[in-house]
Amino acid sequence: MTGSGARLTFLGTGTSQGVPIIGCGCEVCRSTDPRDKRFRASVFVEYGGLNILVDAGPDFRMQMISHGISHLDAILLTHNHKDHTGGLDDVRSLNYIDRRAAEIYCERNVLEDLIREYPYVFKFPKYPGAPEWKLHVIDERPFILRKDSTDKELVWVHDVGYHYRMNDGSLVPTARCLDDMIDTAVPAAGLASPDRSHPRLVRGRGPSLAMGGAERSEESGLTEPAAGTIEQESITVIPIRGLHDKLPVLGFRFGDIAYLTDMSEIPESEFDKLQGLKHLTLNTVGYNKHHSHFSLAETLTLADRIRPDHTWLTHLSHSFPVHERFCKDMERMCQEQHIHSTVLPAYDGLVIE
Ligand SMILES: [Zn+2]
Ligand SMILES: [Zn+2]
Repeated sequence: MTGSGARLTFLGTGTSQGVPIIGCGCEVCRSTDPRDKRFRASVFVEYGGLNILVDAGPDFRMQMISHGISHLDAILLTHNHKDHTGGLDDVRSLNYIDRRAAEIYCERNVLEDLIREYPYVFKFPKYPGAPEWKLHVIDERPFILRKDSTDKELVWVHDVGYHYRMNDGSLVPTARCLDDMIDTAVPAAGLASPDRSHPRLVRGRGPSLAMGGAERSEESGLTEPAAGTIEQESITVIPIRGLHDKLPVLGFRFGDIAYLTDMSEIPESEFDKLQGLKHLTLNTVGYNKHHSHFSLAETLTLADRIRPDHTWLTHLSHSFPVHERFCKDMERMCQEQHIHSTVLPAYDGLVIE
C-alpha cells in the first residue's frame, strides 16, 4: 500500500460473455493460463479506508469469494447492462454478514432500469430476504463517499425480513416505500458545476449520506485530485462521462487511478479530468472498429493523448491472442507507434496502485 493512494484490483477483465465463452474451442478459450480466464468487467478499489466496487455483473459472487471481500462501502455502477449489474441480487450475502444495506451509486436512468428489472427489490412490504439496497443518484460531477455512511444496523428477523435497529433499540422495517430506498435529495441537474475558483474540498453538510444525498465535492482539484481529497475516511470520486454507442455511461477516477469501461467515445469536456494519471484503464473488445467499445487502435490513440504512466486494457474478448503473446504484441506496437504510455492487457487478479 502507498498509504493514501488508491489501490485497484481487477476482479474481472472479460467482455460481456466472459472468457472462455460457452461452447468456444478457440486457442484463447482453451488456454490453461489463468490470465486468460476473464470474469465480467469489475474492479475493487481500496481508497482512503473505503472499500469500493465498480460494477456487479453476473460473476459478482465468485469475484467476492475469490478475493475474500466481505465488506463494501459503496457499489458504483458505470451503466445498466447485465454484464455490469446482473449480480446485484447477490448483495444479499453482504447484507447478512455486513449488517447494512448495499450503498449503490448510479445515474438516474440506471436507477429507473433497476426498478423495472428488479421489481421484487422495490415491492412493499418487502419479501423477506430480498436484497437490501440504498440507491444514490450521481452524474458526471464529483461526489463524496464516506465510510459507513449508514449507521443504522440491519437486523434479520426470522421469517419477517430485515429491520433497522433505531437508536432507542426499536426495530423498524427497512423500506416501506420507494423514497426510503432512494436518495431523492439530489436532482439530476440540481447543483451548480464544481466551482474551479475554490481549491479546497468543501465538506458536505448533511449528517448522513444515505438520507441526505450524494454529497457534491466543490473542489477544483482536477489536476491534483490525490491531494486534499482524503479526510476522515471520506474520499472524492470524480466521474468521467463517456458514450457507449449512444448510451451515456460513467467511468471513475480515484486519486491518480482512472477506470473507464464500456465506452466508444469520451467527450472533449472530460479530458481535463484525466490529467496527471498514474494508471488509466480503457475498454477494448477487439482489433476492429466497434459500435460501443474502443477498438485497439482507438485505445492506443487515447493512451498517447492522455499519457498516463500505465494504460491497462479491459473488457477483453477472445479475439485477442493468449495473454503472453498479447503482451508482447502490445510492447512492440507501443514502441513502433511511439505511444507515450505503457499499454498492456489487464487480467483478473492484477493489482495496481
Ligand atoms: Zn460491458
Ligand atoms: Zn473463444
